Amino acid sequence: MKAENKMRVSFPSRSVNEALARTVTAAFVASADPTVDELCDIRTAVSEAVTNCIVHGYRDTIGLVYITAAMYPGGRVVIKVRDNGCGIEDIRQAMEPLFTTCTTGERAGLGFAVMEELMDKVRVHSVPGKGTTVTMERKLKSRSKNE
Ligand code: ATP
Ligand code: MG
Repeated sequence: MKAENKMRVSFPSRSVNEALARTVTAAFVASADPTVDELCDIRTAVSEAVTNCIVHGYRDTIGLVYITAAMYPGGRVVIKVRDNGCGIEDIRQAMEPLFTTCTTGERAGLGFAVMEELMDKVRVHSVPGKGTTVTMERKLKSRSKNE
């Protein structure tokens, strides 16, 4: 199906850019007339995915984070968050609630669980040594009821 609207941004994996990622994606989705709750959920899910690129994908290095977002007929939003970082060896294990490779106690291992809770679909594609792409979908109710 052809997208009605599309967006693509990239930025260096600095934590200062987490707010930029949330805000730019929310501004894109806002054009499709979402509810406040839908917008809030999407902002949070994007924030979790981008934080993962910064803290896990690139760790102590700086690389580019790419976000693409597309709006499809009926209010379906598809957002991809990609890094060219270290990748994930075992995706199934990484997505288990409370699993984290962080050893400092700073991370809860709940980022993927939050994304799955807030979005309708979350898919992870990752190649160790090459990078990770998280694809998230959400159907906006505000739009679909007007179909
Ligand atoms: P929290 O999100 O609660 O702060 P967390 O980031 O460890 O903790 P998840 O977001 O669920 O938890 O991620 C689980 C694990 O998956 C991470 O600890 C990390 O090992 C791996 N991971 C997630 N995203 C990436 C990524 N973009 N690149 C490399 N590894 C990743
Ligand atoms: Mg996380």
